[in-house]
Amino acid sequence: MKKIPIHTKIVIGLLLGIGWAFLSSSMGWNAFTIRWIDPFGTIFIRLLKFIAVPLVLFSIIGGVSGLRDVSKLGRLGGKTLLAYMLTTLLAVGIGLLLVNIVKPGNQMDEEQRIKNRIGYEIWLQDNNMGPSQDGQHFLDDPQYSKYLSESQVTQQQSENQKNDLTQKIKSVDAQKESSPLQFIVDMVPDNIFAALSGNGLMLQVIFFAIFFGITMIMIPTEHSEPIIAVVNGINAVFLKMVDLVMKAAPFFVFCLLAGVVAKMADTPGEVFEIFVGLGSYSLTLFSGLFLLTFVVYPLIVKLFVPKMGFKDFYKNISPAQFLAFSTSSSAATLPVTMECVEENVGVPKSISSFVLPIGATINMDGTSMFEGVAVVFLAQLHFIDLTIAQQLTIVLTAAAASIGSAAIPSAGLIMMIMVLQSVGLNPAWVAIIFPVDRILDMCRTVVNVTGDMVVSTLIAKSEGELPKYS
Ligand code: ASP
Repeated sequence: MKKIPIHTKIVIGLLLGIGWAFLSSSMGWNAFTIRWIDPFGTIFIRLLKFIAVPLVLFSIIGGVSGLRDVSKLGRLGGKTLLAYMLTTLLAVGIGLLLVNIVKPGNQMDEEQRIKNRIGYEIWLQDNNMGPSQDGQHFLDDPQYSKYLSESQVTQQQSENQKNDLTQKIKSVDAQKESSPLQFIVDMVPDNIFAALSGNGLMLQVIFFAIFFGITMIMIPTEHSEPIIAVVNGINAVFLKMVDLVMKAAPFFVFCLLAGVVAKMADTPGEVFEIFVGLGSYSLTLFSGLFLLTFVVYPLIVKLFVPKMGFKDFYKNISPAQFLAFSTSSSAATLPVTMECVEENVGVPKSISSFVLPIGATINMDGTSMFEGVAVVFLAQLHFIDLTIAQQLTIVLTAAAASIGSAAIPSAGLIMMIMVLQSVGLNPAWVAIIFPVDRILDMCRTVVNVTGDMVVSTLIAKSEGELPKYS
């Protein structure tokens, strides 16, 4: 019998999981699903996450110590960062273009949008930020000001939401106030064991591993050889672990999806309702993410690696994409991302072990597109026309927010507070898009992971190290 490929099995698991969630909602079995099925999804994410840190550590040390020429590392680093920056800006650019053309926020009832706007002007005054550009007009003109009292009620509601968010806003603010060099400071661990034990400290682990690997090249081979053998041996064990976990991935993905969808709402009708209200926004963002994944990336790959066909490209990387969709976390997907790129695309370990972990941490094209689209949508919803200067600010802060987002579910939503604040909008508005965020997060994580795989393929090609497609 022909063996079913792993990505097909994962898709089957995924679809069965969604199907199960709908069945369990309509039959009233959600409590069962959440108590007895969902925990296996959590186990899956935990397994992948605990493998990620040691895998990154040992594969970077192994990769760097195997380099014959250390200057290559500098060159790789430069190219990688440049490619990550360009793809991120491209993604925000496409997102902004789409949201300005489709204008999903304008599709809401105009009266409601005017009320939203007046609520926003009141919020600005309460926070001593003065009226916005044409804001006074909204407060004085009887055509608009007749909504003043109703807007105060809405405003009160959004104030309540804001109180819930205050803690998060404070932590984002604290990040903004620190020195511009803080991000470099944060990359250097002050305790390597603490760095290894915190899942959010991947850049510190990368820094340590590169430093360790380079130093190992500088010591006599009689000392370095046994370490290299151990490092490569341990690496092989972790890679095998990924293999074993992936064998069970279709089952785990079923549990994960069943749990996520069952937790979203009690009945299938409710899930549907959640999406209707924010449908035009969700569709706009979804189209942008789709465009990136199925048009822009394949075109870039075709341009630089002409021998890799469209189908080939997806066959190589789809297991990681499906996993990104199911887990909503680039960090949890990282072990499989590395496996796909090394084994299927043929990128050498010395490149992938360095480019991919950095990418999982800082390169999030899907997230940057989401930040741009969501902020402009929220402005449209509040009858606010953003100026070109404000939109340019959004490009930069959306890129920064995506770099700063942790590679875990919903991290991008929290960072959006910073983007909203950068153009003087109310950070409490993140609550508006919260109901649909989990599903959109799954989609943007696919883009985040795909972007990393594309860049690592291009870097390998540019180094003349992609024999399979030369
Ligand atoms: N979940 C995303 C990731 O892990 C980050 C985000 O946009 O929330 O890549």
